[in-house]
Amino acid sequence: MKWEENVRKVVPYVAGEQPNKPDMIKLNTNECPYPPAPGVRELAAGMDCDALRLYPDSNTTLLVDALAEYYGVKPGQVFVGVGSDDVLAMAFMTFFNSDRPILFPDVTYSFYDVWAELYRIPYRICALDEDWHIRPEDYRQPNGGVIFPNPNAPTGLPESLDTVEEIIQANQDVVVIVDEAYVDFGGVSALPLLEKYENLLVVQTFSKSRAMAGLRIGFCIGNERLIRYLNDVKFSFNSYTMNYPAQMLGVEAVRDDAYFKAVTAKVVDTRERVKKELAQLGFTFPDSRANFIFASHRTVPAETIFRALREADIYVRYWNKPRISNSLRITIGTDEQMDRLLGFLKEFLAENQ
Ligand code: PMP
Repeated sequence: MKWEENVRKVVPYVAGEQPNKPDMIKLNTNECPYPPAPGVRELAAGMDCDALRLYPDSNTTLLVDALAEYYGVKPGQVFVGVGSDDVLAMAFMTFFNSDRPILFPDVTYSFYDVWAELYRIPYRICALDEDWHIRPEDYRQPNGGVIFPNPNAPTGLPESLDTVEEIIQANQDVVVIVDEAYVDFGGVSALPLLEKYENLLVVQTFSKSRAMAGLRIGFCIGNERLIRYLNDVKFSFNSYTMNYPAQMLGVEAVRDDAYFKAVTAKVVDTRERVKKELAQLGFTFPDSRANFIFASHRTVPAETIFRALREADIYVRYWNKPRISNSLRITIGTDEQMDRLLGFLKEFLAENQ
């Protein structure tokens, strides 16, 4: 059809499936296995429905202020979006407008190349080394911007603050985005570098460590000028991105720091135990500092294990893609969920290797 010539054609990002079976174990989208903070539940239960009549605060003032206070920055340094996917999508549109390619790793969050294609941003991928680490020297070539997660996904592997700074230092003429979706599970945040680098944008999310994937809250922190540019684009797109309940409940989640710390510590505890047990079952994996483990079995192909787990209603994530097609990304669930996973794997591997 002639009209199709002028359609923006994209190959969309494929999110992990969201099955809803009564007895399933869902370890495929890095959600938190524990509920949000008790204050969030209380506030949600008593939510003023009359307020839904009005448009929400388009500046998300209360949530921006709560985050600014929590992270010790100015409110003008904080931008809030509908999940960090929304923040990242806005940031790509705002900051990556060069004819030069943006740079990101080959094994990384698979939304980056989708946004690049959507916005027609040229990009070049930089291969991780054999141990799944970023090679900072790759980020010394001419480019139109840099983005990488820390810890990386789906490997879970963190980079040191020195490596992150080396990359930022070499790229002060472009915006460098550090996607810290998983930083609360033992990574090192680049936030302290904000004082030194006005081209740094740090992106985080409430979806994992704050157990609120369903509400869709993400945010970023950076220099006030960066945030102003980001807001200009956001307000040229959709003023009322974040709904009223998300703004109110998000503030409540930030307030309960003790609960946040307890939940992340519990996930880390379980992760470290599961690492030991997976190793005993013959799995190898990078030393994750995220809420998942990226595991390969020494003898049984990942796809075989993935299918067997799925049959048993245990959902993990598998990609049939170069370099990662023999690995499973296993989200850290409750101890009971992980025991069921490990119990299944023990039996399955005993029969199948
Ligand atoms: N960045 C990375 C590295 C992720 O893995 C995810 C989760 N899919 C996101 C960003 C987006 O998460 P959300 O939109 O739920 O904040």
